[in-house]
Amino acid sequence: MASASAQEHSEEAYTYFEEGGLGPSNWASLPIENNQCGGTMGRSGFGQSPITVAESVAATCDTGLQQYNFAPGDCTWNDLEFSISNTGVRVDPIGSCSFGQMNIPQSPNKFNALQFHVHTFSEHQILGQGEQGFFPAELHVVHQEETGESFAVFGTVISVGEQAHPMFEYFLQGWEAVAQQVENECVAESPILDYSTSVVENFQCPPIGSRTIFEGTAPAFPTDSRPNVYGLPTNPNFGTFTYKGGLTTPACTEIVNWNLLDTPMEISLQQLERLQSLILCYVSKRTNEEGALESCGFSTVASETGSTSRPPQPLLGRRVIHRCADGPDVLIEDVGVQEEFFENVEDSDNEGLESGHIALIVVGSVVVAGGILFLIYRQLVVQEESISKDQATGSQVAPIEETSMREETSMREAEDFESKSKDDPDV
Ligand SMILES: [Zn+2]
Repeated sequence: MASASAQEHSEEAYTYFEEGGLGPSNWASLPIENNQCGGTMGRSGFGQSPITVAESVAATCDTGLQQYNFAPGDCTWNDLEFSISNTGVRVDPIGSCSFGQMNIPQSPNKFNALQFHVHTFSEHQILGQGEQGFFPAELHVVHQEETGESFAVFGTVISVGEQAHPMFEYFLQGWEAVAQQVENECVAESPILDYSTSVVENFQCPPIGSRTIFEGTAPAFPTDSRPNVYGLPTNPNFGTFTYKGGLTTPACTEIVNWNLLDTPMEISLQQLERLQSLILCYVSKRTNEEGALESCGFSTVASETGSTSRPPQPLLGRRVIHRCADGPDVLIEDVGVQEEFFENVEDSDNEGLESGHIALIVVGSVVVAGGILFLIYRQLVVQEESISKDQATGSQVAPIEETSMREETSMREAEDFESKSKDDPDV
């Protein structure tokens, strides 16, 4: 079923596996509107994400949490939409309820929670912690500034602890109910089943329809408490690492005030395995043109090792500030990308290449046009010479037709050259 797999992959906008050319090392050249994955060369002042947090930063408190304020939203559990796609799991509030609002040190404005999602393996690397700074997962609560200008992420790496996470358990059940519903439909309507993808082999995903993901019809959500994204951290005395960065998925827009917790959120091993199964063994339904279910298949953009995380990006002079509960009450601003990091880079960025490319086409066209003019000139001289010779000898003027034919051929060759150089980036 390799062809089905390839077909499926070609529909993706981006992937975390490199095969097929849509992987992280190629994101900068993906045909996505306003693609900033290659960096904006300091023009945004923000920079790319994720990043590596140095051990020295994690070991020192630069300031306190005085400028933070977290206000839980009024959405109930039933106001949430649980969704799974080939990129992972996500929760969105339905309608106009609030999913939470926070004040952060980076702006005087409030930021409203829009959604949260989870990456398998952490995107951020915190040196001195985890496995070489990495963790099994990372959760991002995406916020938008009330003025609409910038975004903020309240994010945390996830590690395995002794206890199950009580609130995360409800989120897991919400996604599991959705996954079960899809597999039930796949069993009931017996479409073609597609088991391809190397991730499925590596993670031994059970055959579609063979497992019980969720018992019952809907999760028994608590009625006496609301979902609170700021209640997710396991350590209530958490601190944050803040820096100016971007979205970690294409178009990698440099617009995010990052607030990454300095201690991992803990879930049980059983909860982590359920989370990985939801993301890596996700089954999608595919319908035909009439809308009828045609096939069900595993579908993920994860890498062969099960990663849906972008590797850390260069800091380029940005300062990462460690803000802790017991830190000193001093104002420190996040420092963005520094201009000196781009002095020698400007020439080699994409725009530089593009203008170089255009220059090559212009020079090439001028050379070809010059050549044609020279040929025409030479032919005219030859003709004149032969005409004067013919006049002298009294013979007929024959070579004119031949000359104009040769001229046309040269013009066509010149056009071919020009159109070829526009289409082929290697020229
Ligand atoms: Zn994310």
